[in-house]
This record gives sequence, structure tokens and C-alpha cells, in this order.
Amino acid sequence: MSESHANRVFRLRRRPEGELADGDLELVEEPMPDLEPGQALVRTKLLSLDPTNRIWMSDMRAYMPPVPIGAVMRGLGLGEVIESSRDDMPVGATVSGFVGWQELVLADDSLLEAPLTVLPDPLPAPDSVFLGALGHTGITAFLGIDNSALREGETIVISAACGAVGSIAGQIAKARGAYVVGIAGGPEKCAHAVEVLGFDVCVDHRAPDWRQRLDAATPDGIDVDFENVGGPIMDYVLMRLNIGARIALCGMIAEYNSSGNGDEGPGLRNISQLIMQRATIQGFLVLDHADRYEEAIGYLAGLLGEGRLHYDETIVEGGLDVAPAALGQLFSGANMGKLLVRVS
Ligand code: NDP
Repeated sequence: MSESHANRVFRLRRRPEGELADGDLELVEEPMPDLEPGQALVRTKLLSLDPTNRIWMSDMRAYMPPVPIGAVMRGLGLGEVIESSRDDMPVGATVSGFVGWQELVLADDSLLEAPLTVLPDPLPAPDSVFLGALGHTGITAFLGIDNSALREGETIVISAACGAVGSIAGQIAKARGAYVVGIAGGPEKCAHAVEVLGFDVCVDHRAPDWRQRLDAATPDGIDVDFENVGGPIMDYVLMRLNIGARIALCGMIAEYNSSGNGDEGPGLRNISQLIMQRATIQGFLVLDHADRYEEAIGYLAGLLGEGRLHYDETIVEGGLDVAPAALGQLFSGANMGKLLVRVS
């Protein structure tokens, strides 16, 4: 063991009930083993906070197994190689992937859930962008829009419009010539969606008359719903669908603080609209489409290079310690754009 490399790690101690609470995660200090052949040591720089972090804490039917009790909290992030016995990961390289909620990561492909990716050197954009607009959330936006077969002149509604995925999805939809309607929490976010991100209109879901506002914003109905939220918002969007509408079901954050086992909450009441409007709904997962990452990043980097892609980041300072509290921003709506924690 090397005392010079003590690690600080968040371990999952119990499954949260409702919102993440004190004691669900524990921050512990642990020694790091000395490096063995085939390993590299990575210092986490940025931790990506994602709504799915909350899913991973629950023992629910999901697309990945839950984080076992006692295990390091699963998380995406980016770090710098500080020691290495791997030719493919030289000291100084920037790597991204499932680093976990910890300050140091042993980059050993046989121990990690998925191998870390070495990013290009030099980086063509600030490193944080590779966890957002040019990372998994930007790719998610690209895939959702592409799978929806959005056509020029169609009306698309995008919930969580100022979030990491929604903000990029809106700009891609605009680039494809659609009429783009955002839904976001509060007048500030709505103004940002229109004035900075280029949405045609944005509906504040915190306004008491938001349903009427959505009616007014979608006089020709809705052809595509890029759904990030679920709950009452999605339920009302269903009532505005046009014949042949498509729902790209990306996320349902309004439900993530429940058990996820189908026995809580009111559920969707207007689902029969899929029949009435002969609409389709397609859930999708970015992790299933590794074969399209290069295409997506190439497209997004192109827009960025042309000055046609704006990205927002909320980077929370304070080190690893603040990660559990910062996660709450995704559920209260405090974040603008991609939510990250600066770990070092
Ligand atoms: P965001 O940056 O969009 O943050 C979440 C936002 O959701 C908040 O800022 C808030 O915005 C809104 N929100 C939270 N709770 C509610 C609620 N109860 N009702 C209405 N709005 C709410 O997060 P991401 O961009 O990272 O993720 C967006 C969605 O995409 C999530 O559902 C996530 O699970 C999903 N996702 C799916 C992927 C896939 O492969 N399918 C991959 C990545 C993300 P506001 O202030 O506007 O209310």
C-alpha cells in the first residue's frame, strides 16, 4: 500500500427512500494499492452528475444493475493519469468514463465496469465539454432527435429545455429546421432558452397556467416530443400530439426519486392518446449506441466550430465532498446546462 496515495471515496451505505439523504452515502478515506503491470492511476478532475445516478442507487428494474450496498458510487467523469504502467495511458493523458465517486481511480480494464477512454491530446475544447455537449449528454440529444425522424417545419417539444440534454437537443432541432418549443422551470430559464439557445418559444412549467401556455405555444399540435421529465408534463404533452407523432423517450426524471418498481405515483393518464393519434413512443439509451458516438461527436463538434452550438455548464466547486448535495440540483432545477463537480 502506498500512503502517499490515500483515496477518498463515496460508498453507498443504504438505498435512498425518496430524495438522497444524509447517511445514504458515506465518504471514507482508503489507501490505494501500489500499481501493478497493466494499471494506471487516474486523479479525478470532474465528476458528471446525472439524473441516472439516483436510478443506480435504487434496487429497481433498470438497464444496469444497482450499485451494490457498500460499493463505490457509480459515476461518469474525467481525470488525469498521474502514474502509469500502461502504454495506452501515458502520464498526463486525460481519460473519461466510469471513474466512480472517488478522487483516485485504478485504471485497470479488468476491474472497472467499462474501460476508460483516452481523449485526444491536445483537446480541441475545454475538458468539461467532453462530459456535456461533446460527451454522453450531447450524444444523447443527437440520438434522440435522429431517432425521432424530425422533419423541417415540424413542431417539437423538449422538456428540461435548459438542461444538459435538452439544451443541445433544442439546438439540433433548430438546425434541422423544426419549430422548437421548450419547457423549463422559471422565467429566467425560459428567457435563456429563447434568447441564447434559440428555441422559438419556451413554456414555464412553474407558472400556474402552464397548460394554457403550452396550448398557445403549439397551435399546430406536437409532432415530436423529446421527453426528459415524464410526470404531469408528459401527460399533458400527450394531449397535444398530432396524428403520427413520435415520442423520443429519453428520461423521466420526475419519477427517479420513487422506488421505480411500478407501485408509486399516479402514472400517465393520457397514454390512450398513442392509440387515438397513432403515435409511437421509443425509449432509447445512449449506452446502446457506441457505434454512433463518433458520428454524433463529429456532428456536434461541427456545430460548435461554426458557432452554432451554445453550451452551459454548472460546475460546483468544493471537491468530492459536495457531490451528494450537488446532485439535488438536478431535481430542484438549480442547474443550468451540464452539472459537474470539480473534484481536483
Ligand atoms: P438536466 O441537466 O436536464 O437536469 C434535470 C432538469 O430536469 C432540472 O434542471 C429541471 O429543470 C428538470 N426537472 C427535474 N425534476 C423535474 C420535475 N419533477 N418536473 C419537471 N422538470 C424537472 O439533466 P440531464 O440533461 O442530464 O438529463 C435529462 C434527462 O435525460 C433525464 O431524465 C435523464 O435521465 C435523461 N438521460 C437519458 C439518457 C439516455 O440514454 N436515455 C442519457 C442521459 C440523460 P427545470 O428547472 O427546467 O424544471
